[in-house]
Amino acid sequence: MSFINETHDINLTSWVASANQAGTDFPIQNLPFAVFRRKDTNEEFRGGVAIGDQVLDLAVVAQAGIFSGEAQVAVDAANAQVLNEFMSLGQAYWSALRLALSRALREGSEHQATLANALVAQADVEYAMPCHIGDYTDFYTSVYHATSVGKLFRPDNPLLPNYKWVPIGYHGRASSIDVSGQAFHRPKGQTKAPDADTPSFGPCKRLDYELELGIYLGKGNELGEQIAIENAEDHVFGFCLFNDWSARDLQAWEYQPLGPFLSKNFASTVSPWIVTTEALAPYRTQWHRDAQDPQPMAYLESTRNREAGAFDIQMDVLLETEKMREAQQPATKLSESSFKHSYWTVAQMVAHHTVNGCNFQPGDMLGSGTQSGPEHEEAGSLLELSRGGKEAITLANGEERKFLEDGDKVIMRGWCEADGFNRIGFGSVEGTVLPAK
Ligand code: CA
Repeated sequence: MSFINETHDINLTSWVASANQAGTDFPIQNLPFAVFRRKDTNEEFRGGVAIGDQVLDLAVVAQAGIFSGEAQVAVDAANAQVLNEFMSLGQAYWSALRLALSRALREGSEHQATLANALVAQADVEYAMPCHIGDYTDFYTSVYHATSVGKLFRPDNPLLPNYKWVPIGYHGRASSIDVSGQAFHRPKGQTKAPDADTPSFGPCKRLDYELELGIYLGKGNELGEQIAIENAEDHVFGFCLFNDWSARDLQAWEYQPLGPFLSKNFASTVSPWIVTTEALAPYRTQWHRDAQDPQPMAYLESTRNREAGAFDIQMDVLLETEKMREAQQPATKLSESSFKHSYWTVAQMVAHHTVNGCNFQPGDMLGSGTQSGPEHEEAGSLLELSRGGKEAITLANGEERKFLEDGDKVIMRGWCEADGFNRIGFGSVEGTVLPAK
């Protein structure tokens, strides 16, 4: 089975010159979607596609009427303040629009003159949430993260026995998810020191980030109908970068027996751009389960999932403190990892989430869970990097961190590389910690 088509061809170049520059996140092989408008205007937000350092304004493209059939239906739907309707159309429409955009943006396209008027510099725009997220579920798919966090919370029993059978998740809070640029006040809540008899109340002292991917559902399913693993990815519109901010001291006190609650629902931040599942085809890899581990139950098993169910999406996280900003110093890189290490695939998450008949709606989002790699340096949270707050991390300017301080800005980036294909990127997701109110 091949997921590759003409839109992935490494030899394609665009008449938008910046899309052909080495190292750009947005070559013509990517074509991710966002919702944007020109900065400092009252324009309506509408759909856009990244190409080089520009945004292709889908309102202008839709009104030009240069596409036909499914591609025109799709671009009309994407000319909206949220992309839910476009996402609900399904794979045939997403794919038709991707092909039409790829051809229209190629060097020599007959549509160059029309679409040259549809470009806005990314430097001149602001973004909104790309869609309305009705429901958000956070998974826990990195066995390395689960094991090292488990060791900190339960030294005698780090990885619970269900982990290798069940794609573990919990229902998160959608209302506090915002787009990159989010700034939020340090949360307050109950915490209990290990040696204290009673809990105390106050600002979180162990504020952390989580390096995750967000996975957007496109076409939903009817309540009561499960999505089989073979068809699971037909429902997955695309991926974004996702910072699932976490208050570790609140979490440690509240998480048993029903899981995280106020330690997670005060803020989460997504990148503006959604990279489509189709754009990620060249970076798929085999998924395997070690022979000594339990093999997945039948509803979580498929040939396609074994052959190409994993995605090698590389990610890193950087920290910019207030002092660095004042001194105009660059952010310090804290770690780097890849989604290819995930214990469960996206198809398995979708199949598991719906196996009981739970319904997805277009725009629902899944968090991948913190993507820590096998090595300590590849950890996707400060909780792990600082070994539970025992070892400070020294930053490039000499400052130290165990957890986040007020004024800290966390920046996450993502990109994909594969032999024979162009590099594509996700842009970044950024968020800043403000003092407690
Ligand atoms: Ca999380």
